[in-house]
Amino acid sequence: MTSLTPHGEPPRYFTFPALTAAGLPHASTTRHCPGVTSPSEPTSPFTPGARETLAAAGLDLSRVAYARQVHGADVAHALTRGGVAGAVDVLSTTARGMPLAIFSADCLAVTLWDAEAGALALAHVGWRGTAKGAAKAAVRAATGLGARPARLRAAIAPSIGPCCYVVGEPVIGDFTQAFGHARWERWTRAASNGRVMLDLWTANEELLAEAGVDPARIENPRLCTACHPELLYSYRKGNRGRLVTVAALP
Ligand SMILES: [Zn+2]
Repeated sequence: MTSLTPHGEPPRYFTFPALTAAGLPHASTTRHCPGVTSPSEPTSPFTPGARETLAAAGLDLSRVAYARQVHGADVAHALTRGGVAGAVDVLSTTARGMPLAIFSADCLAVTLWDAEAGALALAHVGWRGTAKGAAKAAVRAATGLGARPARLRAAIAPSIGPCCYVVGEPVIGDFTQAFGHARWERWTRAASNGRVMLDLWTANEELLAEAGVDPARIENPRLCTACHPELLYSYRKGNRGRLVTVAALP
């Protein structure tokens, strides 16, 4: 369990203390950050309000790279310029000062950074991405840029928690096929009315650890989007807004 540092009153974005201490410019926005739309819009998903807000976090959004996220595990690898990086869910770069952005509203936005190698990868991971291996694809993308898994710092932005994530088919079938029944049992619990609650946080922490990431270096504040409608956007709660996690190599 880790904490988040709020910025603004009400908070417009959060930062992860461990990433800040190690020198990574980054931010995960709240619903109070102005000017964030969706990466599927034909225009830039950041208006001047968002650019100004996130400039305070040391992020120059005039160079930001993002993707038309499609709930997969494909990678736009070693990005050197901003703009739309394709229909993928993992972005990686060694370019300093060029922000990578992942949009979410319940899904996990995972940041991976090896400061020594100067390698950064961000991933959009919902249940489909989890089943398809997006977290491990992000680790491979970082190691492909010289990172060592054990040296990576990982951070999981606010996303839907096991308190609120009710699932049924096709999630059950896809997960048991991908991971087997033992892990499915470990990652879920039975709730009332025969409902099943899935813990995507624990699942992805375990999958990152399997890929070689040190569990002690995985930051997860376990802040649930569905539990905090006053602060965050939750697709499952009917919000159409987007949160965004942005990071750039120092
Ligand atoms: Zn919740």
